[in-house]
Amino acid sequence: AEDPKRRVLKDVFGFDDFRPGQASVMETLLAGGHVLAVMPTGAGKSLCYQVPALVLGGLTIVVSPLVALMQDQVAALRLAGVAADTINSSLDREANVAAWRRVAAGQTRLLYLAPERLMTERMLEALARLDISLIAIDEAHCISQWGPAFRREYEELSRLSGIFPEVPIIALTATADEATRTDIAARLFAGRVESLVLGFDRPNIKLGIEAKQNSKRQLLDFVQRHPGRSGIVYCLSRKKTEEMAAFLEQNGVTALAYHAGMSKDAREANQNAFMTLSGVVMVATIAFGMGIDKPDVAYVFHTDMPGSLEAYYQEIGRAGRDGRKAEAHMLYGLGDIRMRRLFIDDEDASAEHKRRAHRRLDTLIGYCETAQCRRQVLLGYFGEEAPPCGNCDNCLDQVPRADGGAEARIILAA
Ligand code: ADP
Ligand code: MG
Ligand code: ZN
Repeated sequence: AEDPKRRVLKDVFGFDDFRPGQASVMETLLAGGHVLAVMPTGAGKSLCYQVPALVLGGLTIVVSPLVALMQDQVAALRLAGVAADTINSSLDREANVAAWRRVAAGQTRLLYLAPERLMTERMLEALARLDISLIAIDEAHCISQWGPAFRREYEELSRLSGIFPEVPIIALTATADEATRTDIAARLFAGRVESLVLGFDRPNIKLGIEAKQNSKRQLLDFVQRHPGRSGIVYCLSRKKTEEMAAFLEQNGVTALAYHAGMSKDAREANQNAFMTLSGVVMVATIAFGMGIDKPDVAYVFHTDMPGSLEAYYQEIGRAGRDGRKAEAHMLYGLGDIRMRRLFIDDEDASAEHKRRAHRRLDTLIGYCETAQCRRQVLLGYFGEEAPPCGNCDNCLDQVPRADGGAEARIILAA
């Protein structure tokens, strides 16, 4: 049987493929889960709820802060033959009454409303009698009191999950740091989020992997190719972060260490320096990263292989948030694989847990060994199809190579 969301994508919107993140958002919604989708502007957030709205049938409520935006979206949907309506203050009474008649008669698939109109008792009571399939909240960061875009009308939306407990809710935004994301989830989903999507494709980050030889030397060379830029260097051990930072300092690079073994004061001082100054290299364990939202990080350099492809993706995502050219560079060698396997075997965990951890590690090794476009492999792991990116070492490396990966993997997994 054909995938219904793909059918709608093609037949209604005329697109052949999903953009990164879209398919997984839609699947979660169609399975009844809540989603917080943090995706860059232009990534295609609207389709994330428009397609499920049509797959599910019934009525989807879309909350949007600006009347002009609602009018645009409704017009575009109608052009595509979709029954969309809006009730808002810029329309005359007759037009609003006519729109409501269509909604009440079950003819409307998507109804666009401003938050203050949705959250009136009259509207909520009337909607409660209808078959609501989905609620979408655009520009969801407006609900966070910490953010610069806070809107009082958005605050009321936190009652929605109580009023419509069975209805999946999707919150969409292009800008939300970790604190704001937590705040959005707490307010809109009572803290419950089945899925958090952070625009998987970060085309501005160049992906590269290099065989590990002399990691100090290789790190210094790399850092010196990015003079005066801020960067994050991840190391496996605390001791190594200090050694590497000292080595960079000796060679004229401003570098600081960060790991959980340092005093709280020392950690905070180094983090502050990194956040406020430019051109500081932070050499850290994975203890560094939570809540780091510095836009001008030019690179993330892994001196050691991370624990999984998910971890790698999260870690490199700290580079290039300003949309400028950035790099993710990893050193990779046999020793890393041995070390990681030992880590897993030494864990105090069930056999099943270990088996899964080994499998996740295999996936990451596959990514390291591939001769294919790395972004394709990375996105593919998250369920997204993409063409070759042109911005990874394999794409940029014009010389065709034999794929020794499969063989290496068999040897290494033994
Ligand atoms: P956002 O709200 O994330 O800024 P939009 O939803 O406005 O982005 O979409 C941006 C543009 O991308 C629109 O023109 C939309 O039609 C287009 N788009 C969205 N999804 C796809 C897709 N899967 N394939 C091709 N174009 C798409
Ligand atoms: Mg949008
Ligand atoms: Zn590529």
